[in-house]
Amino acid sequence: MKITYPGMGYLSPPVRHMLESLAIEVAEAPPISKRTVELGTLHSPEGVCLPYKISMGNFLEGLERGADTIVTMCGAGKCRFGFFGEVQRTALAHGREIAFWSLNTERLLADLYRFLLRAAPGAGCIAVARSISLAVKKLRAIDALSEARNYYGPRAAAPGRIIDLCEYGAGEIALGGSFAEINYSRDLIVDIMASLARADAPEPPRVALVGEFYVLLEPYANRWIENALIRQGVEVKTFVHTGGWAYAKTLLQAFGLYNEEREYLAQARPYFSGHVGGDGLKSVGTSLQCARQGYDGIIHAFPFGCMPEIVAQYALKNIAADYGLPLLTLSVDEHASDVGMTTRIEAFVDCIKRKKGGSRL
Ligand code: SF4
Repeated sequence: MKITYPGMGYLSPPVRHMLESLAIEVAEAPPISKRTVELGTLHSPEGVCLPYKISMGNFLEGLERGADTIVTMCGAGKCRFGFFGEVQRTALAHGREIAFWSLNTERLLADLYRFLLRAAPGAGCIAVARSISLAVKKLRAIDALSEARNYYGPRAAAPGRIIDLCEYGAGEIALGGSFAEINYSRDLIVDIMASLARADAPEPPRVALVGEFYVLLEPYANRWIENALIRQGVEVKTFVHTGGWAYAKTLLQAFGLYNEEREYLAQARPYFSGHVGGDGLKSVGTSLQCARQGYDGIIHAFPFGCMPEIVAQYALKNIAADYGLPLLTLSVDEHASDVGMTTRIEAFVDCIKRKKGGSRL
């Protein structure tokens, strides 16, 4: 069995080490590139959303590297994510001998545990449980690095160094063999970042980055928007993190301690009174909280044609109007260009800096 899986943000290195620690062979797809997107688009229905197309490209590139087993995730059917697995399984099956495993995000821990026991029959229950908890720990530690990058980056004289440190630290954490090693690497990198921040730095503008899960987490899909904002001296706050999500979906959910819908519904009232699928409710709930907390702007990023976020977009426009908050809407697809994105982000940052500067300008 040689496994491949879709890439998303910093998910791949900890997952690869989890599998390899159990002696499972991996044929990881290369980092997402123009070719990945073109390949995926070629083998996808035209109107389907970007995460489907990119993950399809990942699978095809993984198969080119000799994979015979695909492992992916599927949702509970509240948006198109619910049928990704079945449609991709059917599309990829033509003339190929491949096994396709779809882990349901509503029972992720149980599905993942069962899959690993099957893929590594000699490993034993304890090794499998340890490998899962180590992978989740690594992802949460990388979350902490990303948060530190977003905080210290705009306060540093050279934001690029903080961004590079975050990349380096994520690689170190992914290699960690124990909780202690992971904690050590995380704390060391965060301390170095803090030391590079200027004590006399002015308070940077704060922007909330909300929207669809995959686009927020995958830098190729959002054109490295967080780094672009940090380089322009903006503090970016995100509410979606790979590690936080993995922790909630494995451990918290398994023990009945996780109910995202209830939490965000309470935050989103009175602009939303129900779930609209995908991450729409979360986009509205977190935006409203940020508006009330005096953020300087909101960026709403999502794949072109994503229905939950299109519904959320209307509520976000109302929130922006009611609170006098600049709102940038970024709808991305396989044709999104770096230049177009950069121009819009620069114009938005200019707008919030002028607004924040107020009477000083
Ligand atoms: S949330 Fe939107 S983009 Fe993401 S899978 Fe669902 S429909 Fe597609």
